[in-house]
Amino acid sequence: MPKLSDVITALEEVYPPQWAEAWDAVGLVCGDPQAEVGRVLFAVDPVQAVVDEAVEWGADLVVTHHPLYLRGTTSVAATTFKGRVVHTLISNGIALHVAHTNADHADPGVSDALAEAVGLRVTGPLVPDPTDPLGRRGTGRIGLLEPPLSLSAFAAQVAEGLPATAAGVRVSGDPDRLVSRVAVCGGSGDSFFAEVRAAGVDAYLTADLRHHPASEAAEAAPVALVDAAHWATEWPWLALAERALQAAADKRGWAVETKVSQRVTDPWTAHAPMSFTA
Ligand SMILES: [Zn+2]
Repeated sequence: MPKLSDVITALEEVYPPQWAEAWDAVGLVCGDPQAEVGRVLFAVDPVQAVVDEAVEWGADLVVTHHPLYLRGTTSVAATTFKGRVVHTLISNGIALHVAHTNADHADPGVSDALAEAVGLRVTGPLVPDPTDPLGRRGTGRIGLLEPPLSLSAFAAQVAEGLPATAAGVRVSGDPDRLVSRVAVCGGSGDSFFAEVRAAGVDAYLTADLRHHPASEAAEAAPVALVDAAHWATEWPWLALAERALQAAADKRGWAVETKVSQRVTDPWTAHAPMSFTA
């Protein structure tokens, strides 16, 4: 059985912390590097439902995409929801490790997993990382839909390929337009509209699109928008990270059990359909 420090070394070979954005908070949140790790749970969000699952399953380590604390804190008292998460983890001997924008920027990373889940063949990054001489790493991806589909058929394929959430998938654009080249960005993607326009794609699949950037994008260039739940766009990466750790474990002869959390931690829990015709 490996030590936590060994597992972190293996994870950081795939998702080096130096690939994270300067504002990010990646790496070990809690845990003793000398502790043994036999079970690793992968999840998007370090929320109570996920740490409860980790306790029930007997996990020694939870690897999440989102950081628990992005800014400083003066208290981890169990009276706050993040403090309760910390207490649950530590009192059950469970470590928490975060791979966030370093996993976004990796090759393959979060947006590669998203692209694969919705049936796209990735051709390169949407926003290349200038420090990567090969030009393969970066934020978001551009992919090809082979054969091309109508926007409505592509949106249906996205809905089918991602884990189900209450809100479903929102679409902006002519439902009959043909979609061949698609930009994707797992998580909140409305800061990349300039790059999406420059890429000359037919559609942009991301999450958390807000009214004004989406409205301006629709006016400025004929790019169709496909907006899914933030959690759903990042969840496909968990299996990719799990496979990477399993490969490291096989290479080193570790006995490590891994599991991807199936709990839906999207904060939106219901959807009231309206009768609407565009
Ligand atoms: Zn995210």
